[in-house]
Amino acid sequence: MRQTLSFIPTLRETPADAEVKSHQLLLRAGFIRQNTSGIYSFLPLGKRVLHKVEKIIREEMEAINSVEVFMPALQQAELWQETGRWYSYGDELMRLKDRNDREFALGATHEEIITSLLRDEIKSYKKLPLTLYQIQSKFRDEKRPRFGLLRGREFLMKDAYSFHATTESLDKTYDDMMQAYSNIFSRLGLNFRAVIADSGAIGGKDNHEFMVLSEIGEDTIAYSDNSSYAANIEMAAVNMEYPKSDEQARPVEKVSTPDQKTIAQVADFLETTPENCIKTLVFKADDELIVVLSRGDHEVNDVKVKHISGAKLVDMATPEDVRELLSCDIGSIGPVGLPEGTRVFADNAVKSIVNGVTGANEDGVHLKNVTPDEDFTVEAYGDLRFVKEGDASPDGEGTIQFAKGIEVGHIFKLGTTYSEPMKATFLNDQGKAMPYIMGCYGIGVSRIVAAVAEQFQDDSGFTWPTAVAPYEIHVVPVNVKDDVQRETGEEIYEQLKAQGFEVLLDDRKERAGVKFADADLIGLPLRITVGKRAAEGILEVKIRETNETVEWHKDEMQDKVR
Ligand code: ATP
Ligand code: MG
Ligand code: MG
Ligand code: MG
Repeated sequence: MRQTLSFIPTLRETPADAEVKSHQLLLRAGFIRQNTSGIYSFLPLGKRVLHKVEKIIREEMEAINSVEVFMPALQQAELWQETGRWYSYGDELMRLKDRNDREFALGATHEEIITSLLRDEIKSYKKLPLTLYQIQSKFRDEKRPRFGLLRGREFLMKDAYSFHATTESLDKTYDDMMQAYSNIFSRLGLNFRAVIADSGAIGGKDNHEFMVLSEIGEDTIAYSDNSSYAANIEMAAVNMEYPKSDEQARPVEKVSTPDQKTIAQVADFLETTPENCIKTLVFKADDELIVVLSRGDHEVNDVKVKHISGAKLVDMATPEDVRELLSCDIGSIGPVGLPEGTRVFADNAVKSIVNGVTGANEDGVHLKNVTPDEDFTVEAYGDLRFVKEGDASPDGEGTIQFAKGIEVGHIFKLGTTYSEPMKATFLNDQGKAMPYIMGCYGIGVSRIVAAVAEQFQDDSGFTWPTAVAPYEIHVVPVNVKDDVQRETGEEIYEQLKAQGFEVLLDDRKERAGVKFADADLIGLPLRITVGKRAAEGILEVKIRETNETVEWHKDEMQDKVR
Protein backbone atom coordinates (compact mmCIF):
# COMPACT_ATOMS: atom_id res chain seq x y z
CA MET A 1 0.00 0.00 0.00
CA ARG A 2 1.14 3.50 -0.81
CA GLN A 3 1.08 5.82 2.13
CA THR A 4 -0.25 8.65 -0.03
CA LEU A 5 -3.31 6.55 -0.77
CA SER A 6 -3.89 5.27 2.74
CA PHE A 7 -5.12 7.13 5.80
CA ILE A 8 -2.51 7.20 8.54
CA PRO A 9 -2.95 10.40 10.53
CA THR A 10 0.03 10.40 12.89
CA LEU A 11 0.31 12.85 15.77
CA ARG A 12 3.47 14.40 17.17
CA GLU A 13 1.99 15.20 20.57
CA THR A 14 0.75 12.67 23.08
CA PRO A 15 -3.03 13.10 23.43
CA ALA A 16 -3.74 14.47 26.88
CA ASP A 17 -6.59 12.13 27.77
CA ALA A 18 -4.77 8.90 26.93
CA GLU A 19 -3.41 7.47 30.17
CA VAL A 20 -1.62 4.31 29.11
CA LYS A 21 1.09 3.84 26.52
CA SER A 22 -0.85 1.54 24.22
CA HIS A 23 -3.69 4.02 23.99
CA GLN A 24 -1.32 6.94 23.41
CA LEU A 25 0.57 5.14 20.67
CA LEU A 26 -2.50 3.72 18.95
CA LEU A 27 -3.74 7.29 18.65
CA ARG A 28 -0.39 8.83 17.77
CA ALA A 29 0.52 6.24 15.15
CA GLY A 30 -2.89 6.68 13.51
CA PHE A 31 -4.34 3.23 14.26
CA ILE A 32 -7.53 4.31 16.01
CA ARG A 33 -9.64 7.35 16.79
CA GLN A 34 -12.11 7.87 19.59
CA ASN A 35 -15.67 8.71 18.65
CA THR A 36 -16.94 9.12 22.17
CA SER A 37 -16.18 7.59 25.55
CA GLY A 38 -15.34 3.90 25.09
CA ILE A 39 -16.24 3.93 21.39
CA TYR A 40 -13.58 3.82 18.70
CA SER A 41 -13.04 3.68 14.97
CA PHE A 42 -10.28 1.53 13.59
CA LEU A 43 -8.29 3.33 10.91
CA PRO A 44 -6.58 1.31 8.15
CA LEU A 45 -3.54 0.25 10.18
CA GLY A 46 -5.59 -0.61 13.26
CA LYS A 47 -8.01 -2.56 11.15
CA ARG A 48 -5.16 -4.64 9.70
CA VAL A 49 -3.88 -5.53 13.17
CA LEU A 50 -7.39 -6.47 14.20
CA HIS A 51 -7.73 -8.60 11.10
CA LYS A 52 -4.53 -10.50 11.90
CA VAL A 53 -5.63 -11.16 15.46
CA GLU A 54 -8.94 -12.44 14.09
CA LYS A 55 -7.15 -14.65 11.58
CA ILE A 56 -5.10 -16.37 14.29
CA ILE A 57 -8.20 -16.86 16.40
CA ARG A 58 -10.16 -18.29 13.46
CA GLU A 59 -7.38 -20.74 12.60
CA GLU A 60 -7.18 -22.03 16.15
CA MET A 61 -10.96 -22.26 16.46
CA GLU A 62 -11.28 -24.24 13.23
CA ALA A 63 -8.43 -26.51 14.42
CA ILE A 64 -10.62 -27.71 17.30
CA ASN A 65 -13.72 -27.95 15.11
CA SER A 66 -15.36 -24.83 16.37
CA VAL A 67 -17.48 -23.46 13.54
CA GLU A 68 -18.08 -19.81 12.74
CA VAL A 69 -21.52 -18.24 12.78
CA PHE A 70 -22.76 -14.67 13.07
CA MET A 71 -25.57 -13.72 15.39
CA PRO A 72 -27.55 -10.53 15.87
CA ALA A 73 -26.35 -7.73 18.10
CA LEU A 74 -29.95 -6.60 18.45
CA GLN A 75 -31.61 -9.06 20.81
CA GLN A 76 -35.22 -9.18 21.91
CA ALA A 77 -35.76 -8.61 25.64
CA GLU A 78 -37.91 -11.75 25.93
CA LEU A 79 -34.87 -14.01 25.69
CA TRP A 80 -33.06 -12.13 28.43
CA GLN A 81 -36.21 -12.30 30.51
CA GLU A 82 -36.26 -16.09 30.22
CA THR A 83 -32.94 -16.35 32.03
CA GLY A 84 -33.66 -13.42 34.33
CA ARG A 85 -30.66 -11.50 33.09
CA TRP A 86 -32.87 -8.75 31.76
CA TYR A 87 -33.41 -7.84 35.42
CA SER A 88 -30.08 -8.80 36.90
CA TYR A 89 -27.51 -7.68 34.34
CA GLY A 90 -27.77 -4.13 35.52
CA ASP A 91 -26.73 -0.92 33.81
CA GLU A 92 -24.05 -2.52 31.66
CA LEU A 93 -26.76 -3.91 29.39
CA MET A 94 -27.70 -1.34 26.77
CA ARG A 95 -31.43 -1.35 26.21
CA LEU A 96 -33.60 0.22 23.57
CA LYS A 97 -37.09 0.11 22.13
CA ASP A 98 -38.31 -0.28 18.60
CA ARG A 99 -41.04 1.89 17.06
CA ASN A 100 -43.68 -0.38 18.55
CA ASP A 101 -42.27 -0.03 22.02
CA ARG A 102 -40.86 -3.53 22.01
CA GLU A 103 -37.77 -3.83 24.16
CA PHE A 104 -34.36 -4.94 22.98
CA ALA A 105 -30.84 -5.26 24.31
CA LEU A 106 -27.66 -4.65 22.40
CA GLY A 107 -25.75 -7.90 22.81
CA ALA A 108 -23.39 -7.75 25.76
CA THR A 109 -22.90 -11.48 25.33
CA HIS A 110 -24.80 -14.15 23.41
CA GLU A 111 -25.75 -17.06 25.69
CA GLU A 112 -29.45 -16.35 25.36
CA ILE A 113 -29.39 -15.96 21.60
CA ILE A 114 -27.40 -19.09 20.91
CA THR A 115 -29.36 -21.20 23.38
CA SER A 116 -32.60 -20.11 21.76
CA LEU A 117 -31.15 -20.81 18.34
CA LEU A 118 -30.11 -24.33 19.20
CA ARG A 119 -33.11 -25.37 21.24
CA ASP A 120 -35.22 -25.25 18.12
CA GLU A 121 -32.72 -27.13 15.99
CA ILE A 122 -30.80 -29.81 17.90
CA LYS A 123 -33.19 -32.38 19.24
CA SER A 124 -31.02 -35.48 19.52
CA TYR A 125 -27.85 -36.42 21.37
CA LYS A 126 -26.62 -37.77 18.03
CA LYS A 127 -26.11 -34.20 16.83
CA LEU A 128 -23.95 -33.31 19.84
CA PRO A 129 -21.37 -32.09 20.67
CA LEU A 130 -21.43 -28.87 18.71
CA THR A 131 -19.25 -25.80 19.13
CA LEU A 132 -20.09 -22.54 17.40
CA TYR A 133 -18.24 -19.24 17.55
CA GLN A 134 -18.55 -15.74 16.20
CA ILE A 135 -16.49 -12.58 16.09
CA GLN A 136 -18.72 -9.63 16.71
CA SER A 137 -19.14 -6.28 18.40
CA LYS A 138 -20.37 -6.44 21.97
CA PHE A 139 -21.98 -3.58 23.81
CA ARG A 140 -21.50 -2.96 27.50
CA ASP A 141 -22.17 0.33 29.15
CA GLU A 142 -19.07 0.11 31.32
CA LYS A 143 -19.09 2.31 34.36
CA ARG A 144 -15.58 3.45 33.63
CA PRO A 145 -14.56 2.94 30.02
CA ARG A 146 -10.85 3.54 29.91
CA PHE A 147 -7.43 2.83 28.51
CA GLY A 148 -8.68 3.03 24.95
CA LEU A 149 -9.45 -0.38 23.48
CA LEU A 150 -8.80 -2.11 26.79
CA ARG A 151 -12.17 -1.23 28.23
CA GLY A 152 -14.57 -0.08 25.57
CA ARG A 153 -18.32 0.20 25.54
CA GLU A 154 -18.45 -1.21 22.03
CA PHE A 155 -15.74 -3.80 21.51
CA LEU A 156 -14.97 -6.83 19.44
CA MET A 157 -15.22 -10.24 21.05
CA LYS A 158 -14.78 -13.79 19.83
CA ASP A 159 -17.35 -15.79 21.70
CA ALA A 160 -17.78 -19.52 21.35
CA TYR A 161 -20.47 -21.74 22.83
CA SER A 162 -20.40 -25.51 23.08
CA PHE A 163 -23.29 -27.92 23.54
CA HIS A 164 -22.98 -31.40 24.95
CA ALA A 165 -24.91 -34.46 25.99
CA THR A 166 -22.46 -35.39 28.75
CA THR A 167 -20.14 -33.63 31.15
CA GLU A 168 -17.24 -35.73 29.80
CA SER A 169 -17.87 -34.25 26.40
CA LEU A 170 -17.87 -30.73 27.87
CA ASP A 171 -14.63 -31.49 29.72
CA LYS A 172 -13.02 -32.54 26.46
CA THR A 173 -14.07 -29.38 24.59
CA TYR A 174 -13.03 -27.25 27.56
CA ASP A 175 -9.56 -28.80 27.42
CA ASP A 176 -9.41 -28.26 23.66
CA MET A 177 -10.36 -24.61 24.16
CA MET A 178 -7.74 -24.23 26.86
CA GLN A 179 -5.15 -25.49 24.38
CA ALA A 180 -6.49 -23.35 21.53
CA TYR A 181 -6.37 -20.26 23.74
CA SER A 182 -2.81 -21.01 24.78
CA ASN A 183 -1.90 -21.38 21.10
CA ILE A 184 -3.57 -18.09 20.23
CA PHE A 185 -1.84 -16.07 22.93
CA SER A 186 1.50 -17.74 22.22
CA ARG A 187 1.21 -16.97 18.52
CA LEU A 188 0.46 -13.37 19.41
CA GLY A 189 3.71 -13.26 21.36
CA LEU A 190 1.92 -12.32 24.57
CA ASN A 191 3.29 -12.96 28.03
CA PHE A 192 0.21 -14.61 29.51
CA ARG A 193 -0.97 -16.95 32.18
CA ALA A 194 -4.16 -19.01 32.61
CA VAL A 195 -5.62 -18.52 36.06
CA ILE A 196 -8.47 -20.07 38.02
CA ALA A 197 -11.30 -17.60 38.13
CA ASP A 198 -14.46 -16.78 39.92
CA SER A 199 -17.43 -17.03 37.61
CA GLY A 200 -19.10 -13.86 38.86
CA ALA A 201 -22.57 -13.13 37.61
CA ILE A 202 -22.55 -15.40 34.57
CA GLY A 203 -23.03 -18.60 36.59
CA GLY A 204 -21.44 -21.98 36.14
CA LYS A 205 -18.61 -24.08 37.45
CA ASP A 206 -15.02 -24.40 36.27
CA ASN A 207 -13.61 -21.39 34.65
CA HIS A 208 -10.28 -19.91 33.71
CA GLU A 209 -9.20 -16.45 32.76
CA PHE A 210 -6.29 -15.79 30.46
CA MET A 211 -4.30 -12.90 31.78
CA VAL A 212 -1.62 -10.94 29.98
CA LEU A 213 0.90 -9.91 32.59
CA SER A 214 1.10 -6.15 32.57
CA GLU A 215 1.59 -3.33 35.04
CA ILE A 216 -1.51 -1.58 33.75
CA GLY A 217 -3.72 -4.65 34.21
CA GLU A 218 -6.87 -4.05 36.22
CA ASP A 219 -6.89 -7.58 37.61
CA THR A 220 -4.65 -9.02 40.30
CA ILE A 221 -3.32 -12.53 39.91
CA ALA A 222 -2.26 -14.54 42.91
CA TYR A 223 0.23 -17.22 41.96
CA SER A 224 2.51 -19.59 43.78
CA ASP A 225 6.23 -19.04 43.46
CA ASN A 226 6.71 -22.79 43.65
CA SER A 227 3.90 -24.51 41.80
CA SER A 228 1.52 -24.07 38.92
CA TYR A 229 -1.16 -22.56 41.18
CA ALA A 230 -2.46 -19.29 39.74
CA ALA A 231 -5.83 -17.73 40.41
CA ASN A 232 -7.41 -14.36 40.16
CA ILE A 233 -7.34 -12.72 43.54
CA GLU A 234 -11.03 -13.24 44.23
CA MET A 235 -10.73 -16.95 43.62
CA ALA A 236 -7.52 -17.17 45.59
CA ALA A 237 -9.39 -15.76 48.57
CA VAL A 238 -12.16 -18.29 48.10
CA ASN A 239 -9.65 -21.12 47.74
CA MET A 240 -8.00 -20.08 50.96
CA GLU A 241 -11.18 -19.44 52.85
CA TYR A 242 -13.13 -22.51 51.93
CA PRO A 243 -10.91 -25.46 51.20
CA LYS A 244 -12.67 -28.33 49.45
CA SER A 245 -12.36 -30.91 52.20
CA ASP A 246 -14.41 -30.38 55.32
CA GLU A 247 -11.64 -31.27 57.75
CA GLN A 248 -9.60 -28.35 56.52
CA ALA A 249 -12.47 -25.91 56.72
CA ARG A 250 -11.96 -23.22 59.27
CA PRO A 251 -14.76 -22.67 61.73
CA VAL A 252 -16.71 -19.60 60.87
CA GLU A 253 -18.95 -17.52 63.00
CA LYS A 254 -22.57 -18.37 62.17
CA VAL A 255 -24.95 -15.53 61.71
CA SER A 256 -28.40 -16.74 60.97
CA THR A 257 -30.19 -13.49 60.27
CA PRO A 258 -28.90 -10.55 58.35
CA ASP A 259 -30.23 -8.21 60.95
CA GLN A 260 -29.10 -4.69 61.56
CA LYS A 261 -25.90 -5.91 63.05
CA THR A 262 -25.01 -8.02 60.07
CA ILE A 263 -25.86 -5.29 57.68
CA ALA A 264 -23.62 -2.99 59.60
CA GLN A 265 -20.92 -5.64 59.43
CA VAL A 266 -21.30 -5.90 55.68
CA ALA A 267 -20.98 -2.17 55.35
CA ASP A 268 -18.00 -2.25 57.63
CA PHE A 269 -16.51 -5.04 55.58
CA LEU A 270 -16.78 -2.97 52.46
CA GLU A 271 -15.45 0.16 54.02
CA THR A 272 -12.54 -1.26 55.93
CA THR A 273 -11.04 -3.66 53.44
CA PRO A 274 -8.00 -2.10 51.86
CA GLU A 275 -8.12 -1.72 48.08
CA ASN A 276 -5.53 -4.32 47.29
CA CYS A 277 -6.79 -7.00 49.62
CA ILE A 278 -9.58 -9.45 49.33
CA LYS A 279 -12.14 -10.48 51.82
CA THR A 280 -14.90 -12.83 50.95
CA LEU A 281 -18.33 -13.22 52.42
CA VAL A 282 -20.28 -16.32 51.61
CA PHE A 283 -24.03 -16.59 51.88
CA LYS A 284 -25.78 -19.90 51.52
CA ALA A 285 -29.22 -20.91 50.35
CA ASP A 286 -30.37 -24.46 50.88
CA ASP A 287 -27.19 -26.37 50.26
CA GLU A 288 -26.04 -24.24 47.43
CA LEU A 289 -23.53 -21.49 47.57
CA ILE A 290 -25.45 -18.45 46.64
CA VAL A 291 -23.46 -15.34 47.12
CA VAL A 292 -19.82 -14.55 47.20
CA LEU A 293 -19.23 -10.99 48.06
CA SER A 294 -15.68 -9.97 47.64
CA ARG A 295 -13.72 -6.84 48.01
CA GLY A 296 -10.46 -6.40 46.22
CA ASP A 297 -9.66 -3.85 43.60
CA HIS A 298 -13.34 -3.07 43.55
CA GLU A 299 -15.05 0.03 44.61
CA VAL A 300 -17.15 -0.11 47.71
CA ASN A 301 -20.35 -0.66 45.81
CA ASP A 302 -18.75 -2.75 43.09
CA VAL A 303 -19.22 -6.19 44.53
CA LYS A 304 -19.19 -9.59 42.94
CA VAL A 305 -21.69 -12.28 43.67
CA LYS A 306 -22.78 -15.63 42.46
CA HIS A 307 -26.41 -16.37 41.87
CA ILE A 308 -29.18 -16.73 44.36
CA SER A 309 -30.85 -19.95 43.45
CA GLY A 310 -33.38 -20.20 46.20
CA ALA A 311 -34.81 -16.73 45.82
CA LYS A 312 -38.46 -16.53 44.97
CA LEU A 313 -39.87 -13.64 43.10
CA VAL A 314 -43.46 -13.20 43.95
CA ASP A 315 -44.93 -9.86 43.44
CA MET A 316 -44.36 -6.20 43.40
CA ALA A 317 -42.66 -4.82 46.40
CA THR A 318 -43.21 -1.42 47.85
CA PRO A 319 -40.88 0.45 50.19
CA GLU A 320 -43.28 -0.43 52.98
CA ASP A 321 -43.10 -4.13 52.19
CA VAL A 322 -39.37 -4.13 52.27
CA ARG A 323 -39.18 -2.02 55.36
CA GLU A 324 -41.48 -4.41 57.05
CA LEU A 325 -39.46 -7.34 55.83
CA LEU A 326 -36.24 -6.15 57.25
CA SER A 327 -37.36 -3.33 59.45
CA CYS A 328 -34.47 -1.16 58.57
CA ASP A 329 -33.82 2.01 56.74
CA ILE A 330 -33.71 1.87 52.99
CA GLY A 331 -33.30 4.19 50.11
CA SER A 332 -35.76 4.82 47.36
CA ILE A 333 -37.67 1.85 46.09
CA GLY A 334 -40.05 1.71 43.20
CA PRO A 335 -42.38 -1.13 42.37
CA VAL A 336 -41.62 -3.44 39.48
CA GLY A 337 -43.19 -6.69 38.36
CA LEU A 338 -41.15 -9.73 37.46
CA PRO A 339 -42.52 -13.04 36.27
CA GLU A 340 -42.97 -15.55 39.03
CA GLY A 341 -40.20 -18.09 39.27
CA THR A 342 -37.65 -15.93 37.52
CA ARG A 343 -34.19 -16.85 38.61
CA VAL A 344 -32.15 -14.04 39.87
CA PHE A 345 -28.49 -13.88 39.00
CA ALA A 346 -27.88 -11.52 41.76
CA ASP A 347 -25.11 -9.17 40.86
CA ASN A 348 -26.92 -6.43 42.63
CA ALA A 349 -28.74 -8.47 45.20
CA VAL A 350 -25.84 -8.07 47.50
CA LYS A 351 -25.82 -4.38 47.02
CA SER A 352 -29.31 -4.47 48.28
CA ILE A 353 -28.38 -6.60 51.23
CA VAL A 354 -25.79 -4.00 51.95
CA ASN A 355 -28.47 -1.42 51.81
CA GLY A 356 -30.67 -3.54 53.99
CA VAL A 357 -33.03 -4.68 51.27
CA THR A 358 -33.52 -8.22 50.18
CA GLY A 359 -32.68 -9.20 46.68
CA ALA A 360 -33.05 -6.01 44.74
CA ASN A 361 -31.54 -6.66 41.40
CA GLU A 362 -31.62 -3.26 39.91
CA ASP A 363 -32.53 0.15 41.20
CA GLY A 364 -36.17 0.07 42.08
CA VAL A 365 -36.52 -3.68 41.66
CA HIS A 366 -37.08 -5.68 44.79
CA LEU A 367 -38.09 -9.08 45.93
CA LYS A 368 -41.10 -9.59 48.05
CA ASN A 369 -41.60 -12.56 50.30
CA VAL A 370 -37.99 -13.49 50.18
CA THR A 371 -37.31 -13.80 53.83
CA PRO A 372 -33.64 -13.85 54.68
CA ASP A 373 -34.12 -16.37 57.43
CA GLU A 374 -36.27 -18.72 55.44
CA ASP A 375 -35.25 -18.48 51.83
CA PHE A 376 -31.64 -18.13 52.60
CA THR A 377 -29.48 -17.69 55.61
CA VAL A 378 -26.28 -15.85 55.99
CA GLU A 379 -24.19 -18.70 57.10
CA ALA A 380 -20.61 -17.68 57.07
CA TYR A 381 -19.33 -14.41 58.26
CA GLY A 382 -16.53 -13.48 60.53
CA ASP A 383 -12.82 -14.07 60.42
CA LEU A 384 -12.59 -12.85 56.86
CA ARG A 385 -9.56 -13.69 54.93
CA PHE A 386 -7.09 -11.45 53.20
CA VAL A 387 -4.84 -12.86 50.58
CA LYS A 388 -1.47 -11.25 50.94
CA GLU A 389 1.81 -11.73 49.19
CA GLY A 390 3.79 -14.26 51.17
CA ASP A 391 0.73 -16.30 52.28
CA ALA A 392 1.04 -20.03 51.86
CA SER A 393 -0.34 -21.12 48.50
CA PRO A 394 -3.70 -22.95 48.82
CA ASP A 395 -2.12 -26.03 47.22
CA GLY A 396 0.47 -26.10 49.97
CA GLU A 397 3.32 -25.50 47.54
CA GLY A 398 5.25 -22.27 47.90
CA THR A 399 3.98 -18.82 48.76
CA ILE A 400 1.63 -16.41 47.06
CA GLN A 401 2.93 -13.61 44.87
CA PHE A 402 0.86 -10.95 43.14
CA ALA A 403 1.02 -9.77 39.56
CA LYS A 404 -1.15 -7.43 37.55
CA GLY A 405 -2.96 -8.83 34.54
CA ILE A 406 -5.17 -7.83 31.62
CA GLU A 407 -7.99 -10.32 31.13
CA VAL A 408 -7.85 -11.24 27.44
CA GLY A 409 -9.85 -14.44 27.53
CA HIS A 410 -12.28 -16.26 29.75
CA ILE A 411 -13.60 -19.80 29.43
CA PHE A 412 -16.47 -21.28 31.44
CA LYS A 413 -18.19 -24.54 32.05
CA LEU A 414 -21.74 -23.30 32.18
CA GLY A 415 -23.43 -26.65 32.69
CA THR A 416 -27.18 -26.17 32.40
CA THR A 417 -27.25 -22.61 33.76
CA TYR A 418 -28.82 -21.33 30.55
CA SER A 419 -30.37 -24.40 28.98
CA GLU A 420 -32.47 -25.20 32.04
CA PRO A 421 -34.33 -21.89 32.43
CA MET A 422 -34.60 -21.63 28.65
CA LYS A 423 -35.92 -25.19 28.38
CA ALA A 424 -33.37 -26.05 25.72
CA THR A 425 -33.38 -29.81 25.67
CA PHE A 426 -32.35 -32.76 23.55
CA LEU A 427 -33.35 -36.40 23.73
CA ASN A 428 -30.63 -38.59 25.23
CA ASP A 429 -29.90 -42.16 24.17
CA GLN A 430 -32.75 -43.31 26.41
CA GLY A 431 -35.17 -40.97 24.73
CA LYS A 432 -35.32 -38.70 27.76
CA ALA A 433 -35.39 -34.91 27.40
CA MET A 434 -32.30 -33.37 29.01
CA PRO A 435 -31.05 -29.79 29.07
CA TYR A 436 -27.90 -29.22 27.01
CA ILE A 437 -24.70 -29.10 28.97
CA MET A 438 -22.92 -25.97 27.83
CA GLY A 439 -19.63 -24.16 27.82
CA CYS A 440 -18.78 -20.63 26.74
CA TYR A 441 -15.48 -19.18 25.70
CA GLY A 442 -14.69 -15.49 25.17
CA ILE A 443 -11.71 -13.59 23.85
CA GLY A 444 -11.42 -9.82 23.78
CA VAL A 445 -10.30 -9.32 20.19
CA SER A 446 -10.01 -5.54 20.30
CA ARG A 447 -8.63 -5.67 23.84
CA ILE A 448 -5.88 -7.94 22.51
CA VAL A 449 -4.84 -5.26 20.03
CA ALA A 450 -4.25 -2.95 23.00
CA ALA A 451 -2.56 -5.68 25.06
CA VAL A 452 -0.14 -6.43 22.22
CA ALA A 453 0.38 -2.70 21.67
CA GLU A 454 1.18 -2.29 25.35
CA GLN A 455 3.78 -5.04 25.25
CA PHE A 456 5.48 -4.30 21.93
CA GLN A 457 6.79 -0.76 21.98
CA ASP A 458 9.78 1.34 22.87
CA ASP A 459 10.43 5.05 23.31
CA SER A 460 9.95 5.88 19.65
CA GLY A 461 6.92 3.75 18.84
CA PHE A 462 5.58 0.28 18.18
CA THR A 463 7.72 -2.81 17.69
CA TRP A 464 5.01 -5.09 16.26
CA PRO A 465 5.73 -8.79 16.05
CA THR A 466 5.28 -10.05 12.48
CA ALA A 467 2.21 -12.09 13.43
CA VAL A 468 0.13 -8.95 13.99
CA ALA A 469 2.06 -6.14 12.29
CA PRO A 470 -0.21 -4.18 9.96
CA TYR A 471 2.38 -4.67 7.19
CA GLU A 472 5.59 -6.66 7.29
CA ILE A 473 7.93 -4.25 5.56
CA HIS A 474 8.13 -0.47 5.34
CA VAL A 475 9.91 0.84 2.27
CA VAL A 476 10.99 4.43 2.86
CA PRO A 477 12.51 6.39 -0.02
CA VAL A 478 13.97 9.35 1.88
CA ASN A 479 13.59 11.92 -0.85
CA VAL A 480 11.00 11.08 -3.50
CA LYS A 481 11.99 14.15 -5.54
CA ASP A 482 15.23 12.35 -6.21
CA ASP A 483 14.61 10.15 -9.29
CA VAL A 484 16.97 7.36 -8.24
CA GLN A 485 15.54 7.13 -4.73
CA ARG A 486 11.96 7.25 -5.91
CA GLU A 487 12.48 4.70 -8.67
CA THR A 488 14.50 2.34 -6.48
CA GLY A 489 11.80 2.58 -3.83
CA GLU A 490 9.11 1.75 -6.39
CA GLU A 491 11.16 -1.11 -7.76
CA ILE A 492 11.77 -2.84 -4.44
CA TYR A 493 8.19 -2.17 -3.35
CA GLU A 494 6.93 -4.07 -6.41
CA GLN A 495 9.52 -6.79 -5.99
CA LEU A 496 8.70 -7.42 -2.32
CA LYS A 497 4.99 -7.50 -3.06
CA ALA A 498 5.65 -10.00 -5.83
CA GLN A 499 7.52 -12.11 -3.29
CA GLY A 500 4.34 -12.18 -1.23
CA PHE A 501 5.21 -9.65 1.46
CA GLU A 502 2.81 -7.08 2.84
CA VAL A 503 4.54 -3.79 2.12
CA LEU A 504 3.89 -0.17 2.98
CA LEU A 505 5.61 2.37 0.73
CA ASP A 506 6.25 5.82 2.13
CA ASP A 507 5.84 7.70 -1.15
CA ARG A 508 5.05 10.97 0.63
CA LYS A 509 6.92 14.16 -0.13
CA GLU A 510 7.84 14.67 3.51
CA ARG A 511 11.08 15.64 5.20
CA ALA A 512 13.36 12.75 6.14
CA GLY A 513 12.88 13.48 9.86
CA VAL A 514 9.10 13.20 9.56
CA LYS A 515 9.33 9.98 7.58
CA PHE A 516 11.69 8.32 10.03
CA ALA A 517 9.70 9.42 13.06
CA ASP A 518 6.49 8.11 11.49
CA ALA A 519 8.14 4.84 10.48
CA ASP A 520 9.38 4.31 14.05
CA LEU A 521 5.97 5.20 15.42
CA ILE A 522 4.13 2.78 13.11
CA GLY A 523 6.75 0.18 13.96
CA LEU A 524 6.68 -2.35 11.12
CA PRO A 525 9.10 -5.23 11.78
CA LEU A 526 11.46 -4.40 8.89
CA ARG A 527 12.26 -1.00 7.41
CA ILE A 528 14.13 -0.59 4.15
CA THR A 529 15.41 2.94 3.75
CA VAL A 530 16.27 4.10 0.26
CA GLY A 531 18.60 7.08 0.66
CA LYS A 532 21.53 8.75 -1.04
CA ARG A 533 23.42 5.51 -1.48
CA ALA A 534 20.64 4.10 -3.61
CA ALA A 535 22.74 5.24 -6.56
CA GLU A 536 25.25 2.52 -5.60
CA GLY A 537 22.42 0.06 -4.97
CA ILE A 538 22.88 0.25 -1.18
CA LEU A 539 19.81 0.06 1.08
CA GLU A 540 19.71 0.58 4.82
CA VAL A 541 17.72 -2.09 6.60
CA LYS A 542 16.45 -1.64 10.14
CA ILE A 543 15.03 -4.37 12.33
CA ARG A 544 12.50 -2.43 14.35
CA GLU A 545 12.42 -4.78 17.32
CA THR A 546 16.11 -4.26 18.12
CA ASN A 547 16.71 -1.06 16.16
CA GLU A 548 19.69 -2.86 14.64
CA THR A 549 20.65 -1.65 11.14
CA VAL A 550 22.48 -3.39 8.36
CA GLU A 551 23.23 -2.56 4.75
CA TRP A 552 22.01 -4.68 1.89
CA HIS A 553 22.71 -4.42 -1.77
CA LYS A 554 19.53 -4.11 -3.80
CA ASP A 555 20.39 -7.26 -5.73
CA GLU A 556 20.71 -9.41 -2.62
CA MET A 557 17.50 -8.15 -1.04
CA GLN A 558 15.30 -10.81 -2.55
CA ASP A 559 17.30 -13.58 -0.81
CA LYS A 560 18.06 -11.80 2.43
CA VAL A 561 14.57 -10.62 3.18
CA ARG A 562 13.20 -14.14 3.67
P1 ATP B 1 -13.67 -7.45 32.63
O1 ATP B 1 -13.45 -8.23 33.91
O2 ATP B 1 -12.42 -6.87 32.09
O3 ATP B 1 -14.79 -6.47 32.73
P2 ATP B 1 -15.39 -9.49 31.77
O4 ATP B 1 -15.00 -10.56 32.72
O5 ATP B 1 -16.58 -8.68 32.07
O6 ATP B 1 -14.13 -8.51 31.52
P3 ATP B 1 -16.18 -11.49 29.83
O7 ATP B 1 -17.64 -11.40 30.00
O8 ATP B 1 -15.45 -12.61 30.45
O9 ATP B 1 -15.53 -10.08 30.29
O10 ATP B 1 -15.91 -11.37 28.26
C1 ATP B 1 -14.92 -12.10 27.53
C2 ATP B 1 -13.75 -11.22 27.14
O11 ATP B 1 -14.16 -10.01 26.50
C3 ATP B 1 -12.93 -10.75 28.32
O12 ATP B 1 -12.04 -11.75 28.75
C4 ATP B 1 -12.22 -9.54 27.74
O13 ATP B 1 -11.05 -9.94 27.05
C5 ATP B 1 -13.21 -8.98 26.75
N1 ATP B 1 -13.89 -7.78 27.28
C6 ATP B 1 -14.81 -7.74 28.27
N2 ATP B 1 -15.22 -6.48 28.49
C7 ATP B 1 -14.53 -5.71 27.60
C8 ATP B 1 -14.53 -4.32 27.34
N3 ATP B 1 -15.32 -3.50 28.00
N4 ATP B 1 -13.71 -3.86 26.36
C9 ATP B 1 -12.92 -4.69 25.66
N5 ATP B 1 -12.88 -6.02 25.88
C10 ATP B 1 -13.68 -6.53 26.84
MG1 MG C 1 -16.81 -6.76 32.73
MG1 MG D 1 -13.54 -10.26 34.37
MG1 MG E 1 -14.48 -12.50 32.34
